[in-house]
Parts: sequence; structure tokens; C-alpha cells
Amino acid sequence: MTKEKQEDDHNKIVFVSGGSRGIGAGIALDLAAAGYDIWLNYRSSTEAAHGVQAKIEEMGRSCLLLPFDVSDGVAATKALEPLLARVVPYGMVHNAGVARDNIMPLMHRKEWDRVIDVNLNSFFILGRLFAKMMLTKRRGRIISIASISGQTGQAGQANYAAAKGGLIAASKSLARELGRRNVLVNVVSPGLIDTGMIEDLPLDKLLPLIPLGRVGTVEEISGVVRFLLSREANYITGQVIGVNGGMYM
Ligand code: NDP
Repeated sequence: MTKEKQEDDHNKIVFVSGGSRGIGAGIALDLAAAGYDIWLNYRSSTEAAHGVQAKIEEMGRSCLLLPFDVSDGVAATKALEPLLARVVPYGMVHNAGVARDNIMPLMHRKEWDRVIDVNLNSFFILGRLFAKMMLTKRRGRIISIASISGQTGQAGQANYAAAKGGLIAASKSLARELGRRNVLVNVVSPGLIDTGMIEDLPLDKLLPLIPLGRVGTVEEISGVVRFLLSREANYITGQVIGVNGGMYM
């Protein structure tokens, strides 16, 4: 058995932020089915997170629940630093996100700040903690879940688009910083995906803008994340993979 293979078998842990519901829960379940153990972060959906944990354990994998607000640097450090001192996960998927839509002339400062905090400042908090430790191991994968809004801009989403656009730029910068140490950083940028986040959107107006004519599924995101964690993606870093049915090309 090669050294690389031994290391892969030894540590197949992936941290997923925002893993209690929606895309994050789907990513955690998909990765567990592929043989990864999961560190599952969430903020408030305790029952749902326990449900994800139970399903992962049924698959014979472990799932450590890590409830904290990803925008709270003190809480994140308190939860993660002692764990990271013992073991460094192979992957970190930063998926937690929120939207607070409003047109910018009417947007409140707290709507702007909350969205920047949860989607973007959290990447500085989590990315720094994980990157530091992955550097010492000279291996690791960091994957950010951004959004088509961060690539195109979107009316009513100046806060969200700014946060996701910033997340893309920060992820590319980190990819440049970590590449030489074999830590790969990529972005998955979903279009409209069937979760609670889009339930209030006017889909009748949006579907004609999607060449594939439908919204995407959680599995269509988690499959790309799984690929980016795999050996097949060894030479991919600093990329933004759009999973959007052709809505943005
Ligand atoms: P959901 O609203 O369905 O789920 C959001 C998840 O993030 C929940 O698990 C929630 O946990 C968690 N979360 C929210 N705030 C925090 C926080 N402060 N700290 C920790 N966890 C938090 O969203 P989706 O699954 O649809 O979205 C997942 C990601 O994909 C987001 O980054 C989103 O911006 C992005 N995205 C989604 C699209 C879509 O169409 N659905 C399109 C483009 C991007 P809890 O409930 O426990 O608080």
C-alpha cells in the first residue's frame, strides 16, 4: 500500500458548516455514504442535526455535532481548537449561509452586517483555523459554497451577492497561499437549489431563466463536493464550479 493511500485511509474526516438542513445536510450524508466521518456544525436546528447524526451513524460512520454560530469567532475557536490539536480533518466544507433580501435603498444596516458576518466573515474564522492546521499536515481540501448571486449580482441581494463574491475572492486567494503545501481550495457556486432557502422565491418568473428549465437538487451539489474531495480532483485548485443548470455561463 502506498504512503498516500495509507494516509487517506487513516483520516477521512470532513467538517461541514451549516449541516443540519438543506445542502449542508445533503453534503454530510453523501460524504458519510462515501466513507467519510463528519464533524457537523449547525446553529439552531438541534433536532434536525440529531437526525442527520443518526442517519450517518446508521451508515457506520461517526458524526460529531458542533453547534455554534459560524460568525462567532470566540465560539468557533472554543469548539474547534481543542479538536484540531488532536486531529486535523482532511476536508473543510464551508456551507453555512443566510440571506436577508431587500433592495439596497431600503436595506437596514443589520441586514447587511448579518449576511456579511454569516457568509463571509465566517470564512475568515473557519478558514484560518483549518488552514493553519492543514498547512502543518501538507494535505487538505477546503471547499466554499458560494452562490450564482456572487458571480452575477442580484437585485434585492446586494448584501448576499457581496458576501458570496467576497467568499469567492477570499477562497481563490487562500488557494494561492496554500497550493505549495498541497492544500486545495475550491468553490462550488449553486444556482437555485431545492431547499428552504428558495421556498419564498417566485419560481414561475425564475425558471425561464434556467436553460435546464428546473431547479437543482441537493444531491447535484453534494456530488460535486464529493468529487472535489476525491483523488480525481488532485490538480484542481482555485476554481469556481457553477452548478446552476446553465443560469450563468
Ligand atoms: P438552508 O437555509 O436550507 O440551510 C442553512 C444551513 O446553514 C442550516 O443548516 C443552518 O443551521 C445553517 N446556518 C445558518 N446560519 C448559521 C450560522 N450562523 N452558524 C452556523 N450554521 C448556520 O440553506 P441552503 O441549504 O439552501 O444553503 C446552503 C448554502 O448554499 C448557503 O451558503 C447558501 O447561501 C448556499 N446557496 C443556496 C442556494 C439555494 O438555492 N438553496 C443557492 C446558492 C447558494 P440551523 O438551521 O441549525 O441554524
